[in-house]
Amino acid sequence: MATPKIKSKTSTPQKSNHTPERKAALKPKRFKSAYSKAEMEEIFRRFSVQRPEPKGELEHVNPFTLVVAVALSAQATDAGVNKATRALFKVADTPEKMLALGEEGVTQYIKTIGLYRNKAKNVIALCRMLIDEFGSQVPKTREELIRLPGVGRKTANVVMSMAFGVPTLAVDTHVFRIANRLLMAPGKTPDEVEENLLKVIPDQYLFHAHHWLILHGRYCCKARKPECERCVIADLCRSPEKTVDVPAPLVELPQQLVGEAVE
Ligand code: SF4
Repeated sequence: MATPKIKSKTSTPQKSNHTPERKAALKPKRFKSAYSKAEMEEIFRRFSVQRPEPKGELEHVNPFTLVVAVALSAQATDAGVNKATRALFKVADTPEKMLALGEEGVTQYIKTIGLYRNKAKNVIALCRMLIDEFGSQVPKTREELIRLPGVGRKTANVVMSMAFGVPTLAVDTHVFRIANRLLMAPGKTPDEVEENLLKVIPDQYLFHAHHWLILHGRYCCKARKPECERCVIADLCRSPEKTVDVPAPLVELPQQLVGEAVE
């Protein structure tokens, strides 16, 4: 994954902490996207033609099962989580039913998922909190969501967007890689990337931007080797890792292309 270059230390004499240079260095760095406003519009226009209705691939039946699925998906593939949750959600699609299964019961369903013991513990604690403090309903604000055990900012953003239609930008591994690799919104942490992407993604594309970037990263701009010859933005891309300049034909992708590739 491309990361911003870190300047090497120089051998210049040490200066007082109060010099103007020092003060300037302490100011938060303004990031610079490699793309103009018009180029960002064009990139997302093409994504919107390619996938007019992008969807998340985590299976769920209501906001509660979505929160659980997203929390379980940390460091796991969506396909792996879906395999486990299909049976789990059939028997437990509410906080009460999940709580009744108990930690051991949940563990039996999710033990194919990484970190399953800790995740089962969090799911049970999350159900307790939903029942005790939120009337068994999934809360709608980020502040409330991140209070739930096992729910971080990324999970909260996904839930707000997918369950409640709030335009947010959850930064997962694919989004983080693309923002940095393409020099679109470089940042050292997911929070920094989120903040920077929010500044450069055109408003009208923000709602679906998370899914477009994930799907582009999962199926085209892959982690180990980007498939630039299949990329619809190859002519615009400024990544040093790019291998071709000619964009792939811009057509709407058939449904079967979604969900088949392996991460
Ligand atoms: S041209 Fe290559 S590096 Fe650039 S976005 Fe497309 S797949 Fe990724």
